[in-house]
Amino acid sequence: MEITKVAVIGAGTMGNGIAHVFAQSGFKVNLIDVNQGSLDRALATIDKNLSRMVAKDKISESDKDAALSRIQTFTDIKSGADSVQLVVEAVNENFDLKTKIFKELAEVTSEETILASNTSSISITKLAGVVKERSEKVIGMHFFNPVPVMKLVEVVNGLDTSDETYEVIENLSKKLGKTPVYVNDAPGFVSNRVLMPMINEAIFCVYEGVATPENVDEVMKLGMAHPMGPLRLADFIGLDVCLDILRVLYDGFADPKYRPCPLLVKMVDAGKLGDKTGEGFYKY
Ligand code: NAD
Repeated sequence: MEITKVAVIGAGTMGNGIAHVFAQSGFKVNLIDVNQGSLDRALATIDKNLSRMVAKDKISESDKDAALSRIQTFTDIKSGADSVQLVVEAVNENFDLKTKIFKELAEVTSEETILASNTSSISITKLAGVVKERSEKVIGMHFFNPVPVMKLVEVVNGLDTSDETYEVIENLSKKLGKTPVYVNDAPGFVSNRVLMPMINEAIFCVYEGVATPENVDEVMKLGMAHPMGPLRLADFIGLDVCLDILRVLYDGFADPKYRPCPLLVKMVDAGKLGDKTGEGFYKY
């Protein structure tokens, strides 16, 4: 199957980056969000990031204009997703919300359309179970933030995902200039199963007064050669996203070792979500 047109649902941190890389790689992109403000911000971010690439001589001004002209925005799923060969869902990490969207997608898209989720941790098998008649077309296509920069796509098959669906997504990831890595379906896959407990432990260090956020990050940068400390990274990912993922791990494994730190819960309750709200473990 040849993919020429994709829909990206959710125009937040990940959705705008995913739309950017598809458009820059020559695909038509329908970017869908319930919130017009998110769509406006996404287009402004894509414009800014493409301009930065022009300034660095990575692409030409006309490449930038061509990429932008391939993106159309929509506030409803039906008009944005009915004519595409692939949907990449990137709404908030909430199973009920994703369920609602997958059910709607099964109704409005053609039977051939692949339904991919950028979920960080939710089981692809469970998501596919919501649209049983289409489960062989459901797959995890997990991009990393910032999408235009990060090379990895963690590709996750659900129990019923067909080999054909996998091959299309593997080849497509390469066309986007990414490196697909296959992992089996399990809560948090590999990336977040390893990353989130580290971030959570770093938050416990602050919560228990072991060290300040700056010093926790300094230890991990200088001692472990991490390019960014875990708390700076948590702010960058979004503290609400981190909490959602930890809850998926906690529920999915029924194991208390994934218990979210109370300080993380408190900061999310207070609306201190990191870079996107101007304050998290650091002020921006
Ligand atoms: P975000 O909060 O930045 O954006 C989510 C967007 O979804 C918002 O713009 C919101 O308006 C929109 N949305 C909500 N309900 C919708 C609906 N019914 N229809 C259309 N749009 C709707 O979140 P994000 O950080 O971009 O995360 C999105 C997904 O990507 C999550 O599943 C997350 O786990 C995953 N992810 C995030 C990161 C990261 O670093 N932030 C990395 C990899 C994967």
